[in-house]
Amino acid sequence: MKIHEYQAKAILGQYHVPVPRGEVAFNAEEAEAAAKHIGGSVVVKAQIHAGGRGKGGGVKIARNASEAAELARGMIGMKLVTHQTGPEGRTVHRLLVEETLPIERELYLGIVLDRVQAKPVFMASSAGGVEIEEVAARTPELILKAALDPTGLAAYQARKLAFGIGIPPASVNAAAAAMSALAKAYLAMDASLAEINPFILTRDGKVYALDAKVTFDDNALYRHKELLELRDLNEEDPLEVEASRFGLNYIKLDGTVGCMVNGAGLAMATMDIVQHAGGSPANFLDVGGGASAEQVRNAFRILLSDAHVKAVLINIFGGILRCDTLATGVVAAARELNVRVPIVVRMEGTNVDLGRQILMESGLNFTVGADMRDAAEKAVKLAQQGNPE
Ligand code: GDP
Ligand code: MN
Repeated sequence: MKIHEYQAKAILGQYHVPVPRGEVAFNAEEAEAAAKHIGGSVVVKAQIHAGGRGKGGGVKIARNASEAAELARGMIGMKLVTHQTGPEGRTVHRLLVEETLPIERELYLGIVLDRVQAKPVFMASSAGGVEIEEVAARTPELILKAALDPTGLAAYQARKLAFGIGIPPASVNAAAAAMSALAKAYLAMDASLAEINPFILTRDGKVYALDAKVTFDDNALYRHKELLELRDLNEEDPLEVEASRFGLNYIKLDGTVGCMVNGAGLAMATMDIVQHAGGSPANFLDVGGGASAEQVRNAFRILLSDAHVKAVLINIFGGILRCDTLATGVVAAARELNVRVPIVVRMEGTNVDLGRQILMESGLNFTVGADMRDAAEKAVKLAQQGNPE
């Protein structure tokens, strides 16, 4: 689960990561009031779940409250396009109004899970304020790393990183404390990513998290119910939000073959074989092992509400989800939705004969695939016929 910068800063602040004073604003009046509270010049920052806002015009400085209101009027409702949003951009609904700070240097701090070491890894770099992926590709020696133990970032590790990224001695203790606090927050919140870019050193020797990105591990959210209210559905694909309501793993992609599959591994294999057959999957969808006919019906409805879908490939290995349950759900959905796109089914496993019988007797237009390859080839061909370009 992703959250906004202002939410991430509020959480990090509770763990004593130094953050600038700021307030969230949903309109120009609130932005003006926030700027008045803060006093002096302020930064007005668009809150969307994507980075690169600075370059895209989503981070601007106002000299006073009335300028902040003016900037806010321009930003609220704008489509902000950054290298992370895709060309369609994201509509801005919220702003963060923050005090400005005298930046001396822009640095980088980040924590991600390193699956090879099976530990979170703390990264620090003197090259902040720019895309860290670029730094990693061009000058990897500028990224220092330290693996976290379950107890967090040890004091000696934090000091070594702080010196390593060129923090002057007088500010090393403050920087090391901020790093340890970030690690503490990461572990306590069950985050999967925490990134501060830039982490700044000011002209008066202080350090601050000027930007903040925190992503939580969905599988641990049951331990942090209070975090659920930070979710902003405006930032998520509407079909994915709908799918999550029914406990389905659905990710929208940009192809034309809708895939309905049980099990994440089989879903990945299905996407591969669709591509191998010359097509492109419209989605990843794992209806799960124990899906009910009702869930299958919803899955099918969500999959078909993507207008790009020209054919559907149903690839099911009946285990806990029995083939007859799947067939019942699919037939119910197909009737209810008056489905026009061709459907190719490949089913194996528990109650497969009963499942096939339900599909055939439904009177709906199903094509049966002999095996995975055959089914994928048929689905791709049908999608191409329905989509002549
Ligand atoms: P991002 O582009 O989405 O990563 O947004 P950031 O929050 O990182 O802001 C982008 C850039 O705006 C930063 O690297 C800074 O250079 C600049 N910036 C942000 N806040 C301030 C501020 O308070 N004062 C000044 N002078 N620049 C700022
Ligand atoms: Mn940033």
